Amino acid sequence: MAPPAGTRVRAHSAAAARDGLFAPLWWRRPWEHVPYPLTGLPNRIHLLERIDAAIATTAGDGGASFAVLFLDLDRFKLVNDSVGHAAGDEMLVETGRRIVRVIAGRGMVARLGGDEFALMLSTVADVAGAERTAADILAALGEPMWVAGRELFPSASIGIALWQPRYRSGDELLRDADAAMYRAKSSGRNRSEVFGEQMRAEATRLLDLEADLRRAILGDGFEPWFQPIVRLSDGAVVGHEALLRWSHELHGALPPADFIGVGEDSGLIEQVDWLLYRHVFRWLARRTEGYVSINVPPRHFHSDDFAERLLRLLEDAGADPSRLRIEITEVALLDDAPRTLRMLRQLGECGVLAMLDDFGTGFSTLSYLQRFPIKSLKIDQSFVAGLDGDTHAESLALVRAILALAGTLGIDTVGEGIESAQQRDLLCQLGCTYGQGYLFGRPAAASTSGGAGVVAEADAAPSPIPPAAVRPALGSVG
Ligand code: C2E
Ligand code: MG
Ligand code: MG
Repeated sequence: MAPPAGTRVRAHSAAAARDGLFAPLWWRRPWEHVPYPLTGLPNRIHLLERIDAAIATTAGDGGASFAVLFLDLDRFKLVNDSVGHAAGDEMLVETGRRIVRVIAGRGMVARLGGDEFALMLSTVADVAGAERTAADILAALGEPMWVAGRELFPSASIGIALWQPRYRSGDELLRDADAAMYRAKSSGRNRSEVFGEQMRAEATRLLDLEADLRRAILGDGFEPWFQPIVRLSDGAVVGHEALLRWSHELHGALPPADFIGVGEDSGLIEQVDWLLYRHVFRWLARRTEGYVSINVPPRHFHSDDFAERLLRLLEDAGADPSRLRIEITEVALLDDAPRTLRMLRQLGECGVLAMLDDFGTGFSTLSYLQRFPIKSLKIDQSFVAGLDGDTHAESLALVRAILALAGTLGIDTVGEGIESAQQRDLLCQLGCTYGQGYLFGRPAAASTSGGAGVVAEADAAPSPIPPAAVRPALGSVG
């Protein structure tokens, strides 16, 4: 129940603020005091007013302090999906009741929406006090809960923000408690985390990075690096994977790991991808041999016009669609299967083939391999690394199974992250046709890897084949 934009009441009467009380109901707009119907708890706006009032009171009062806790149930979606929404609702009501019982009049409990709750704890002496209350809440939630005839043991992740003079509004405290809750989730759930200076520094860094990224988009500050994909039997280069690099003015060429998280959270990554694809297609148009593959994250398939846009961009660059491959992940196939299938077919009809990237790390639902037009599977580098590591037996079994499956379905295979001749030889013996990895060539800028195409290194072919058999880029696209 969001209020109309810009109408939130921020001003408080001095008396109400001092008392830390809710302002009288009669001057509120109707949506502001309506509790969530399900739990009967106040909503976000109600809570924010209470926190704003506490800030006003506490600012002038030396000793007293208070804390804001942000609570999110762990794996709530699982309950909704398995036991049903009615059971989910029951669980939310009982969760609200238990939190209220623990707080016992020492503050306000609100439901923000979904499985999110937030509370304002008045009179908290220090961080330890807030942490004790969080622990009490977790213990109360951990008691068995009977929902829809089942015994469930809910847990939650809680973020804590303790009031400090720098806070100007309830929004700021709630935002920091929310950030701390995320930390609690990522460090294993069923726990609490306190928002601290380190988190603030990290949040600031991410904000700066996002601003940098926006500037780089305006200045087209991205370039593709290319890594050869070779035929394992003779080391001939059949294509290249285009890998995103951000040409950062201070830090040089940044790999995706350094910024892709921010790019995804801010929704900027799609724009970055489109800028990159344009560079890749121009590069492809200048070359005469081999294919190029681009990485296409699942969110692109949410845009109805993705396929048309890609084909148009290819045409504008004068590049041949049949020399383009898109690397997608299993998530894209699960997300919205019919739509993705439609787009893959449309691209396939124009010659753009699909490769399944990082195969084996996702859900590996085998049925879709048959349903979707997939040209190649890229065996994830973790399995390849395992081939001569501690997990040799397991990796070998997995790689064998993947190759057998691909063979049955007539799908090509590319081993990723091949670093040693031993890995290459083993993959080749097992029947993997293509490979990619530092052994054959590292990703490099177009100025280094472009032009005449990359020649596989002398030791790139499997040992039974003499180095003389190593050939430069083939006309074949593999
Ligand atoms: P990926 O598509 O699985 O790409 C392979 C990654 O493995 C690349 O990392 C590559 O540099 C690295 N690699 C290649 N050979 C070896 C090897 O022998 N040993 C090891 N240890 N690593 C090797 P990179 O370039 O940092 O890219 C990481 C990931 O970022 C990619 O994984 C892909 O998921 C994503 N990515 C790359 N380019 C793009 C892009 O244009 N758009 C988007 N959205 N994501 C991209
Ligand atoms: Mg890839
Ligand atoms: Mg990969």
